[in-house]
Amino acid sequence: MSLAEHRARADAALVRFRDTPVGHFVGGRFEPVAGETFETRAPFDDALLARVAAGQPADVERAARAAEDAFGPWASLGGAPRKALLHRIADGIEARADEIALVESSDTGQPIRFMSKAAARAAENFRFFADRAESARDGLALPAERHLNYTLRQPIGPVGVITPWNTPFMLSTWKIAPALASGCTVVHKPAEWSPLSAVLLAEIARDAGLPDGVLNTVHGVGEVAGRALTEALPIRAIAFVGESATGAAIMAQGAPTLKRVHFELGGKNPVLVFGDADLDRALEAVVFMIFSLNGERCTSSSRLLVEESIHDVFADRLRARLAGIRVGDPLDPDTELGPLIHPTHRAKVARYLEIAAEEGAQVVSAPAATPPCTPPSLLLGAHNAMRVAQEEIFGPVLTVVPFADEAEALRLANDVRYGLAAYVWTGDLERGHRLARDLDAGMIWLNSENNRHLPAPFGGMKASGIGRDGGDYSFEFFMETKNVCVALGTHPIPRLGADPV
Ligand code: NAD
Repeated sequence: MSLAEHRARADAALVRFRDTPVGHFVGGRFEPVAGETFETRAPFDDALLARVAAGQPADVERAARAAEDAFGPWASLGGAPRKALLHRIADGIEARADEIALVESSDTGQPIRFMSKAAARAAENFRFFADRAESARDGLALPAERHLNYTLRQPIGPVGVITPWNTPFMLSTWKIAPALASGCTVVHKPAEWSPLSAVLLAEIARDAGLPDGVLNTVHGVGEVAGRALTEALPIRAIAFVGESATGAAIMAQGAPTLKRVHFELGGKNPVLVFGDADLDRALEAVVFMIFSLNGERCTSSSRLLVEESIHDVFADRLRARLAGIRVGDPLDPDTELGPLIHPTHRAKVARYLEIAAEEGAQVVSAPAATPPCTPPSLLLGAHNAMRVAQEEIFGPVLTVVPFADEAEALRLANDVRYGLAAYVWTGDLERGHRLARDLDAGMIWLNSENNRHLPAPFGGMKASGIGRDGGDYSFEFFMETKNVCVALGTHPIPRLGADPV
């Protein structure tokens, strides 16, 4: 499809949002907007896409009550009907995949070439957890001498899901699908910079026949609506994806009501490239993992640690690639890098380029990028103590640090507060496994770019998160494990008060 066709179809998908302000979805219906609203704008041309209800604590309370009322019937519905419903949601996502991609691309600035796959991945999330809904309650048999212990799992209750703005549709399904499969009900608070695709998900769930109140969506600003959700009494747990500082705030906000928390937070992920690696493949992966999804990607390999012996050659090849990256309108099928989501975020990334220069790094930016797009950039001659090597920039900026040997590479890689992902490129199998053992990261990819397998655990160490997603790990979070201990005979019970003195 051409850019003109994409534009026309995006317009058709978005016109409904321009006409009517977007309301919360509570108890199975979209509420009319009565109070305050906020704007969401297209990052590429600043067009006003929608006015959206700015949720207040009372809105969150209403949604939390709806989730509480819906919990009992949903939890006791049984795995088979839940499975069928979740598959119907996946069908609905697939049927509206083009619309989801166009709305998401317009609202976030993410290139359509990546967003066109977001719906398929979201549907896959629903199908994966749908197929496990029937076994989610299964436990273990733990026999002892005179007793049989066995475990059961049950859904924890209504939960809050708070998501960021970078790839909102896919990320929200990654949380909402396992929550629903477990038997939990959900209140979702999407990010205020990209709220629109959450509306489509609520519609799809409603049209699939999901009972009223099982999924609720409250829009709004994090410090108000998000905060209220973390404080709401009926909400038993918060699954959060976002910045590390916000995770810390949520932990404090949720403490008085003893919220269980699951955090997927920021990263400053190293990619280690050794001289013995397949450098052609390493180059592809390094370029892809920093410049795809606008660099607004938690698992982006934003720190390149490269062996000194190949540093200059590799840096030259990176420069050449940088110049070739197609930057522009996210709806253009040729675009590889779109505009960053919001003027505030663009200013933050631009400031990091200034900081890099102030710190003494050489900033190499692609010349062809024009505002509002941020140029893809390399920071050469950097060292690990620089802010640009330590802090998450969350944009198309690659910090390049040379290392002398494996020991130094490991030390540099671990010398950050984050620990989400690490990538290693080497032809030495033993070294690869040694590093996989010793790197401080929840996920290690050896001779691979980020490649996701849904049963595998996803999550970070240190300031990058608490808990793991994927497969059974998701159920561990959304469910309580209960132990049942049964006597197998008449074992002796200690007697108290039976022999008075
Ligand atoms: P953010 O923390 O600013 O916001 C995330 C969400 O939290 C939004 O919905 C926001 O409204 C809400 N929020 C903000 N303050 C809140 C509060 N006090 N209480 C409750 N909710 C609040 O993050 P962002 O800028 O939207 O997203 C970018 C960040 O997300 C980056 O750090 C990135 O690494 C991280 N991220 C992590 C993963 C992962 O899997 N580890 C995936 C994607 C993004």
